[in-house]
Amino acid sequence: MTRMEADVVPAAPAKPRELGPPIVEICNVEKRFGSNHVLRDVSLTVRRGEVVVIAGRSGSGKSTLLRCIDHLETIEGGTIHACGELMGYRQDSMGKKTELSDRRVARQRRNMGMVFQSFNLFPHLNVLRNITISPVKIMGEDPARAEAHARELLERVGLPDKAEAYPSQLSGGQQQRVAIARALAMRPQVMLFDEPTSALDPEMISEVLDVMIDLSRQGMTMIVVTHEMGFARAAADRVLMMADGVIVEDAPPEEFFTNPQSEHTRLFLSKIL
Ligand code: ADP
Ligand code: MG
Repeated sequence: MTRMEADVVPAAPAKPRELGPPIVEICNVEKRFGSNHVLRDVSLTVRRGEVVVIAGRSGSGKSTLLRCIDHLETIEGGTIHACGELMGYRQDSMGKKTELSDRRVARQRRNMGMVFQSFNLFPHLNVLRNITISPVKIMGEDPARAEAHARELLERVGLPDKAEAYPSQLSGGQQQRVAIARALAMRPQVMLFDEPTSALDPEMISEVLDVMIDLSRQGMTMIVVTHEMGFARAAADRVLMMADGVIVEDAPPEEFFTNPQSEHTRLFLSKIL
């Protein structure tokens, strides 16, 4: 049995979902690293409340796409709008673009919460401090309010009794759940996940996916790079396949799994299912 099969999450509930207006709009994006053309004319619209899963071979450009959305990378062509703003730029009425200051970009980036494969918690801070440090230091949130919110979030990720623990005292799955709580503490409008379970031991994968499924059911907009197709079946509105910097498939899970149009998707599915 493969890891994918072992971790399949229970079947999706019927979920006719109310999706809102576009919240992330990626138009004709081009990204190169030197001569390596990593994103080729990529366009993608994600609506408020939507959950989009992105799969694809290593090196196909998935992380780069997420990093471009979060403006951790600059793009060479095209535009990315998130939460109604053009990422990284101000645009005048004539359409002329001017780069935003680092401070303005940082403000835009707060709309997005990012969870990485490596959870990167601060080792010298306890769980509570890991979660409250950014809201307090960056957003100027009242410490008592930030702490109350952090405890609420710890409840939500199933770790109400770990507030005083240090990261080294937690399992990988618990640390990743704290990382999710930490991202949520900034009250993001969109959550980006880059292979959030790839660094975990198999027995810890489902506890993290369960938290993500809950989050999706609460209406969070999510873009999730993962090969956990059980998660895709349970939570995704759409599943995308990337190959060589191109989105080669973009379909609801039912279609993605039963009637894939792209050879890349068929090959991928034949390996994991
Ligand atoms: P994936 O996440 O799908 O595995 P990535 O987006 O990480 O793919 O990488 C896509 C391509 O871009 C790869 O060829 C990778 O080597 C290259 N790449 C990614 N980040 C950088 C970087 N900072 N500098 C140079 N090349 C990079
Ligand atoms: Mg990657």
